[in-house]
This record gives sequence, structure tokens and C-alpha cells, in this order.
Amino acid sequence: EALNRILDIKGSIRVFCRVRPFLLTERRGIHEPVSVDSDKVVVRSVGSRKEFRFDRVFHQSADQDDVFLEVEPVLKSALDGHNGCILAYGQTGTGKTFTMDGLNDQPGIIPRALELLFRQASSASLTFSMSMLEVYMGSLKDLLSPKASARCNLNIQTDPKGMVEIEGLTEVQLPNIAKAKWWYSKGRRCRSTSWTNVNETSSRSHCLMRITISRHGESKQGSRPEASKLWMVDLGGSERLLKTGATGLTLDEGRAINLSLSALGDVVAALRRKRGHVPYRHVLQFLFQMHLFSFLTSHMASEKLFRLSTLCQPDSRLLFNFVLCRNSKLTQILKDSLGHSSKVLMLVNISPCEEDVGETICSLSFSSRAR
Ligand code: ADP
Ligand code: MG
Repeated sequence: EALNRILDIKGSIRVFCRVRPFLLTERRGIHEPVSVDSDKVVVRSVGSRKEFRFDRVFHQSADQDDVFLEVEPVLKSALDGHNGCILAYGQTGTGKTFTMDGLNDQPGIIPRALELLFRQASSASLTFSMSMLEVYMGSLKDLLSPKASARCNLNIQTDPKGMVEIEGLTEVQLPNIAKAKWWYSKGRRCRSTSWTNVNETSSRSHCLMRITISRHGESKQGSRPEASKLWMVDLGGSERLLKTGATGLTLDEGRAINLSLSALGDVVAALRRKRGHVPYRHVLQFLFQMHLFSFLTSHMASEKLFRLSTLCQPDSRLLFNFVLCRNSKLTQILKDSLGHSSKVLMLVNISPCEEDVGETICSLSFSSRAR
């Protein structure tokens, strides 16, 4: 029964892939290992050819406009009252921050989303508020807090209706686009100055922005405004699963994580064979979410639970993983925005370079299983 509950995840998930162009400092080989089609990525390396499918693939030459066009439906749905979640996933250096934040002359998803929301707001009675936080090694940091001392270690609460609340998290009202951009750049500055070893930590921390969209009823007195949440997340580098030294996990533990992920795949596949009525699409979405969850939890999950979970029978292993997920800060935060009626969009960023092929294949196989 618990399994049925877990399987009842109906959110709509779309997965895109974006290939970063070569940087000026990078040498292009004679054979480029990564080639793309409109919905397909092919990776060639010595003696092997692997193909992955996505809802949409962005070629190196795709610009920020092209990407944003595909993001708009999530924003429209958030304006209609549904929760939404846009995640940038990938190895460090593949363009997650470029995709979400962008550069001054090539703004990314977040600044464009803010513009779009305010353009739409004038025609509807909507108000916006913003929070920004960073999740690093299991602790939460408030990026918009006026007092530096009040920034660390926030707690997460779930109310009886299943809504997630982060205690003490600063939430600022956004009266206009100028103010919204002001807060956004304040949050970004705070992120980059808050750690001593910026490169090291920024590749291992998740940066989250939440826009709360409140809809004010037509004048029904006493009626509470409806609110939807839109999360825009720049995830920590996905290479943590492999380069285990970076996470403090041992090689064995890294392997255990990867093993438990593939075991999970087997379980779900078996489940599908046994019970014909489990809808295929749900299983795949579920599998994808479990992968996502496990990845997100991998650096904070307790070693013991993983050990335990690999010793258990397949079904309880599935449940163990689920328990682990529920204990993760990041998944707790996003919990009410990943399932049900919310729209989830994951952008998988990959590198075009020969030396990154291993990581690239990992990122691609992790994420293309959602389809
Ligand atoms: P990540 O956040 O995944 O670690 P970055 O966004 O910092 O990666 O990107 C690494 C470098 O590559 C940056 O200098 C960035 O400007 C550049 N870059 C990434 N994606 C693109 C792109 N699509 N077009 C041009 N430059 C890009
Ligand atoms: Mg980054």
C-alpha cells in the first residue's frame, strides 16, 4: 500500500539537455564526441556509441532565447496557480549557472522569468514575493536575511496539509521588477561572498530561489488568496557521485549509491511486470524522481542507512531509499513542488569536451531515464 502511495506521483516532468559550446581555452579534438539532434544526444568514445533521448535538446549554438521559449509553459502554469520547479543539473562547469542566471548581456532563465511574471501581473491581480536560500552539506542558509548572524541553519516544517514551511526564512515582497532584480542580485552576492572557498563550495551547494505568486480573489471578502510556488534551482555539481573524495564518501560508498540506484531500477521494472496496471509513465516518472532524490540526498544520507538498504530485500530497499529522501533537506524543501499538479522541468547541462565524456554519459543516462 505504501508502494502504491509512492507510485502515485503524477507531476508532469520534462527533461531537456543543453550542450555548452567550447570555451576559448578548450582545445577541440578532430572528432567531437558529442553530437545532437532535436531530441537526441549521441556520445561517441573509443569503440562505443551511446544514444540518449530527451524532450528537447539544445545544440551548442542555442541561445538563452531558445531555452527560455521552452521554459515559458512552466511559468504560465505557475501563474495559473500550479507549483513549478525548474532545475539545472550537471557536472560543474557545464553551464548550470549560465543557464539559470546568465551574464549581463545574455540573461538566463531567472531574470527573464522575473520580467515575464511582472509583464503578466499587470493584467491579473497577482502579487509576488521572493526567498533565496542555499543548501550546503545539510544546512540551510538564508540569502536574503538582513542580519548575517540569522542566516544559518534554518529548520523545515511541514504543516498538516503537507505544505512545506522553512522557519525564519526571509520572504521579501516584490512591488515591481526593479525591486525584484535588486533582491535577486543581493541574494547572488550573498551566495558568492558567504563561503571562504567559493569554487569548492559553490560546486557542492544548491542555490534555490522561490517566487510565491499570490492571487487575490475578485473581492470575495475574507477569502484567502491562493498562492503557488515557483522554484528555480541551480543544483550542486553532479560529479559528486563519482569523484567521491569531494564528498567525504569513500569509493565504496560511492559505488553503493550507484548500485542502490540501479537496484531501484530493477525493482521498479519487476514491479511493472508483476502488476500490469501500474501505468508505465508513472513508473518512469517515479523512477526518475527516485534517481533525482537519491542524487540530491547522496551527500547527506547517513552511511549506515545505505549499508542497511543494500542488505535488505528489494522492496524494503525501495522504501529505505524513500525514507532517505524524506530526510534530505533539499527534497523536503521541494516536496510539495515536485509531484501532484506541479510542472517540473529539468535542464541537464553537458560538456562538449573529450575529457568529460565519462561524466557526460553519467549525466545523460541519469536523466534520460525519465522518458
Ligand atoms: P556551472 O554553473 O555548471 O559550474 P557555469 O555556468 O559557471 O557552469 O559555466 C562555465 C563556463 O562556461 C562559464 O564561463 C560560462 O559563462 C560558460 N558557458 C556555459 N554555458 C555557456 C553557453 N551556453 N554559452 C556560452 N558560454 C557558456
Ligand atoms: Mg555554477
